[in-house]
This record gives sequence, structure tokens and C-alpha cells, in this order.
Amino acid sequence: MRFTFSVIYSLLIIALGVCSVIAWKSRKAIGRSVTQLEGSLIPPVMGNLLIVGSDNRKIALAGSYIYFIGMDLVMYALVYFTARYCKLRGPRHRIPNAVYVILALDVLQLMLNPLFGHAFVLERISVDRFDYYRLIPLAGQVFHRAAVYGVFLAVVLIYIVMVVRTPRIYSERYFIILLSMILFGLWQTFYIFSRTPIDRSMIGFAMFGLLIFYFSLYYRPLRLLDRMLSDIVSDLSEALYLFDPNGKCLWANEKGCELAGVKDENYDTVTAALTELFGDPSENTEARRLQRIIGTGGDVQYYTLEENRVIDSSGQLSGTYLRIQDVTEAQQKLKRDLYDATHDSLTGLYTREFLYQRITELLRVHPEISYYIVFIDVKNFKVVNDIFGVEFGDHALQCIADWLRDIVTERCCYGRLIGDTFGLCIPESEFDHEKLEELLSVFKIRSERAEYHLLIHMGVYPADLMDADVPVMFDRAHLSLLTIQDEYHVHIAYYNNEIREKLLWNQLISAQLSDAIESCQLCPYLQPIADSSGRIVGAEALARWNHPEHGFLSPGTFIPVFEQNGMVVEVDKHMWRSVCEILARWQRQNRDLFISVNISPKDFYFIDVVSEIGRLVREYGVEPARLRIEITETVMMNDAEKRMEMLKQFRELGFVVEMDDFGSGYSSLNMLKDMPVDVLKIDMKFLGKTGDAEKARTIVKNIITLSKELGITALTEGVETQLQYEALSEMGCKLFQGYYFAKPMPVYEFERFAGITD
Ligand code: C2E
Ligand code: CA
Ligand code: CA
Repeated sequence: MRFTFSVIYSLLIIALGVCSVIAWKSRKAIGRSVTQLEGSLIPPVMGNLLIVGSDNRKIALAGSYIYFIGMDLVMYALVYFTARYCKLRGPRHRIPNAVYVILALDVLQLMLNPLFGHAFVLERISVDRFDYYRLIPLAGQVFHRAAVYGVFLAVVLIYIVMVVRTPRIYSERYFIILLSMILFGLWQTFYIFSRTPIDRSMIGFAMFGLLIFYFSLYYRPLRLLDRMLSDIVSDLSEALYLFDPNGKCLWANEKGCELAGVKDENYDTVTAALTELFGDPSENTEARRLQRIIGTGGDVQYYTLEENRVIDSSGQLSGTYLRIQDVTEAQQKLKRDLYDATHDSLTGLYTREFLYQRITELLRVHPEISYYIVFIDVKNFKVVNDIFGVEFGDHALQCIADWLRDIVTERCCYGRLIGDTFGLCIPESEFDHEKLEELLSVFKIRSERAEYHLLIHMGVYPADLMDADVPVMFDRAHLSLLTIQDEYHVHIAYYNNEIREKLLWNQLISAQLSDAIESCQLCPYLQPIADSSGRIVGAEALARWNHPEHGFLSPGTFIPVFEQNGMVVEVDKHMWRSVCEILARWQRQNRDLFISVNISPKDFYFIDVVSEIGRLVREYGVEPARLRIEITETVMMNDAEKRMEMLKQFRELGFVVEMDDFGSGYSSLNMLKDMPVDVLKIDMKFLGKTGDAEKARTIVKNIITLSKELGITALTEGVETQLQYEALSEMGCKLFQGYYFAKPMPVYEFERFAGITD
């Protein structure tokens, strides 16, 4: 028996040692505490090995000490392990220091036993002809047992709490340890009271160690995982089916049953049901992932089917599982997003980018068809928004979109470019110029509150050249609109080389402007202004460009270009300065003549015209009254109040303000009474256009009479004949300008003409 137990104990020691090393090497957080516990179990088993295996008193005594002190170690390690295994953290769950103190005191008193003999003595007995040493407990041993049992029971209590508190599936890991602790405790107690020399409970002891080793490092709550996995699978939004290698359905989740109409877990119908829904899957044996669309019209549903094979470790097919997902919502969202990205939200037409893309495709697919690229622009759309409100403006754009839908065929492609512009690509054969002109001339927007005639212009570029990409073609179509910019009766313009050359010209002169100013290629010509007695009283400064290559340029060739790109400010500033120079010279020579300068409406956008001109006259010491300011009615179109204020400022500074080209634009006689101007320039050219000379006479006469009443001096320009001059004089006109007197001329010539050269 001694031999048997010695062997068993030795094997247990080895087992515990191995566990301890494995636990140490494991990367788990709990590994260290498991190592400690496994290691701490070795001394008590070793102590018992010595007690059982030897008939020598000293060895048995040493074994007893190792056993008892080892037990304290075990308790310490058990507490330490439990704290980690049960994840006790925070102040409330901290292991009280008292536990460590009690265990330490016990070790101390046991170590003092050789001196005082207060804990235990050994008694020699004979069993089966073998000598053993049995323990006779004294007071110290009672303390030892109380300490060890106390700690042990506290730990048991912790496990009881854990078992009760944790969910059932999970509490298994605590319950096993609790059960083995209780069994082991009872077994141990039994041996203590049976007082047999061989402590068989050591076997339970070691078993306990192995159990802990397994549970803390390797145990997985399989039942828990099982439950969780099956829950997850059942809850999946996709249908799931398991098939055996022969294709027989073994199981389906809830969604799967629903989709295949399975009742009472009768999975035999699954294959047939799925085939009916999605077609024969074997037709497409290669593809493991399929897209299927079921239904038609608004009731379409989209599915993805994915088949997966389960191969066992020997490479054999053990079954397949099929996942079917309803992706209708995602597909619909995708479609919606695509629509939103490619369609304008207000009109429902294609967006610019998408239109470009579609037209590019159209031109590529049908190279045999000649297409027109049409740029559609609403004139003065800002005015519509201003007068009728944005809501009406939006309504107008929607109406244009609807109109477009009406007039085109499916062979066209159209969309909204940006703001109030639309784009259209239409086969040349379908573009009916006459019909479109007619439609556009009567184009009206109606709403409950208002009706408005919209002026729409169409710029056409023939796309069959295939030499440009779509945005460039639209740019060219847009540019063709320049030719009908101010037209109210022509709505369609075609791109031609003239436009192209004009654009090149614009680029050329824009690039050369600053050089031209610097080298005085650009200079003022003066056109005399006479009074009713025919005396020259002043002049209008008109810009001329003496171009080194293109010769003498009149302002009609460059002023509109610079007005469009804003460079007119440079021209005008140069003109004002040049005029100030002339006036300063005349002032020194005591010549009492004025000069009028032109101010472009665009100047007001870019500079503070009043302070700029004010600064110039101060710089040259010119009396402001000698410099006359010519503004046109269009200046007053934007922000009339502010502009009115500016005119007042000019007059307060002493300048004479002239209203140029009166009658050419939108202004009315009524407006005149509020205008702070000194001179009204009436252009004969505008009147001549009407063709009815008598009518023109009446209009001019009325304007002159009215201006006289308002205290404004009337000046007629474009006077070409003596007859005109005399008639106008009779009507009360005070000042005259025109070819009848002289054409615009260089400054030195003017000086001679006005008789101011000596
Ligand atoms: P505008 O201010 O109305 O100038 C009068 C135009 O009528 C001048 O043309 C002048 O040569 C022309 N004219 C004068 N008398 C007669 C006549 O009896 N019969 C006819 N048929 N025409 C006459 P021009 O010099 O070609 O200038 C054209 C326009 O260019 C000017 O019209 C003015 O609006 C603009 N402009 C000229 N110089 C400047 C400038 O320095 N700055 C700005 N911003 N615009 C300028
Ligand atoms: Ca003028
Ligand atoms: Ca004029």
C-alpha cells in the first residue's frame, strides 16, 4: 500500500508540475494565477508522499511541516486564483488583508512548533506490518485547521454566490469548481477525523487542481455557444438552408421556412419551392453567387443567393448551405441614389454631368446621325425671380422642363445645365427652326397669380463635326447667343465661324489692352459741342485705338468687349486722366471749354467712380465744372437709389451730370423728374429708326419742352444737317453735337477747329 500510494502521489506531483508549466506558458490573463495554484498544490501532496512513503520519523516530521505550511500556500493561491477567475474587482470585491494575515500567522506558529511543540506531535503506529507516523493534534493544529477551513469556506461562499448570480448557462464554470471543492472538503474532513495515516484525500486534492486547470484555461461553454449560434442563425435577416451532400434539405432557419413555405419542419418541400421561386440552381453550377429578380412592375423583389460547401478534414463534401438574402431595399435605395445623382431635383431633368455623359454616348452610338447641340437660355430670369418671387421662378423652370419634354422625341437627350439654362441634343432633322421660333415667340408661364412672357434664346452648335467634347460644344452653342443678345424677336442663333473669329478677336485685344494704354495707342478724340449760335462750347471725349496691326479702331470694336469682361474700367480711367490733362492745359491757357467723358455702367461694379474722378480733378487742379459726366440710363437699372445718391455727390462736387442716349433704353419721361442730372443728351439716331419723321419731331419737341420745365438743358446728338440744327434750335434745344459740326477728331485738330490755338 505504501508503494502504491507513493507511486500515485508521485504521478500526481508530476501532473501538477506539468499543468503549472503549461499554465505559465499560456498567454491567457489568468495563466499566472493558475500556475500558482497548481504549484501550491505540489507541497501538500509532496508532504503526504513523505509521510506515507517513509518509516523514518524525521522524514515524516518534515513531510508534516511541508504538508501544513503547503496548505497555507494553497489557500493563498486559491484566494488569488478565485479573485481572478470570478473577476472580482473594485473595493467591495477586494480580498481582505485579514486573510493574508491569518495565513501568515499560521505559517509562523507552525514554524515555531519544533521549539514549543504546541501544534502537534507524531505517534508511531503499525498498519499491515508497516510503520507509519500518525499525527496527534494540539492547540496550534486547531488554529491551523480553523485558519485553513475559514479561508476555504469563504472561497466556497464566493463560488456559491457566483453560481447563483450568473446566468445558468454560464454558471457551469463556477458550479463545477464549487462541487469539486465541496467534495474535496468533505473527503479531507473525513480523513482528518478518521485519523488514518494515509491521506487519500490528496488524490481529490490533485484532481481539484487538474479540474481548475481545465476549466480556467480550456473550458468553453459549448451549450452557451450552441444556443447563441442557433439564436443568431434564426434571427438572421437572410434565409438559411442546410443540405446533405445529396441535396436533401436538413434544416432551414425561420426566414428560410417562411420563404420556402415550410410547415411543421417538413423540409422535403424546400428544394421544389426554391426551384419554383428562383429557377433550377443546377443550371448554374459554376456560380456560387446569383442575383435573382422576382415579380414585375412596382412589386419587384431582388435576392442574392449564395451557396457554400462544407468540406470535412478528409476533403469530402459533408453538405452545403444556401443563404438567400432579400436585397430589395438596398437595390431600391441604390436606384434612388442613382436617380438623385443624375436628375435635377427641381425639374426632374438630367443633371449637367449626366447629360454630358448621355450625349457623349448618343453621339458615339449614332455616328450616322447629325445632331444639334442646343444651349437654352432664359433671358432676364433674374427679373422674373425678383418681380414674381422665387416660387414662381421655380414654377417657370418646371414649365420649361415640361415644354422641353413635349417638343422632343425619344431620339433627343436633354437636361438642366445650371440655373436658368438647359441643354438639348437633337437630331438635325428634328430641329424645326420655324416651328420653334413660333413656339418661343408666344412662350408664356402661367400661374394662379401671374402670367409672364418668357424670352428664351436657343444657341445651336452642329455636333456632327465630332471634333470637340460635349462641354465645349455647349460652350460654343452658348457663344452663338452673343449674336442675338439684345434681340426680342429672334430666338434661335447658330454658331458660325464669325463668332469664333469674334471670340479670337476679343481675346487678342484683351491681351493687348494694357500695352495699348501704356504706349498711348489708346487716346481720346474730341467731338465738338456747339451752342444755338453755333459757337463751340465744349467737346465729348470718344476713345480711339490706333492699333499697330489693325489700324484705326473705333470704340464699337472694343468697348463692348471690355464691357463684357470688365476691362472697360482700364479704358475709362485712362480716358478720364487724359481728359484731365487736356483740361488742365486749357485752364492754364484760359480756354473756357468743357469736355464730357463717358462712364460705362460696368465701371460702377468695379470702382468707386465718384472718388476716382474726384481724385483726378484734384490731382490735375481741374475745375470740376469743366468735366462733364456722361452716364446712361442702364446705370440706373441696378440699385437706383444708390446710383441716384452718387449722381447727387457728383453735382455737389461741382461736376455737370449728363444723361446720355436718352430714350434708347427703358427710362421714361416720368423718371426724369427724379433724376439729378443737368443735361439730357437726345440721340437723333434712335428717333430716325422709327421712320416717321413727323413723329420723331413731336417726340423730340416734347422731350425738349419737358426738360426745359424741369430745368434740364437739352443736347441733341447726331445732328447731321442744317435743317435738323435749325428745327431743334426752334424747339428750344440749347446744345448740339453731330457730323453737321464735325466728326470726332484728334485733340490738336480740335484745338485748331475751336480756334484755341494761337
Ligand atoms: P456715344 O457716347 O453715344 O457717342 C456718340 C457716338 O455717336 C460716337 O461714336 C460718335 O462718333 C457718334 N456720332 C457723333 N455725331 C454723329 C452723327 O452726326 N451721326 C452719326 N451717325 N454718328 C455720330 P463712337 O465714337 O463710335 O462711339 C460709340 C460709342 O462708344 C459711344 O456712344 C460710347 O457709348 C462708347 N464710347 C466711346 N468712347 C468711350 C469711352 O471712352 N468710354 C466708354 N465707356 N464708352 C465710350
Ligand atoms: Ca457719350
Ligand atoms: Ca450718346
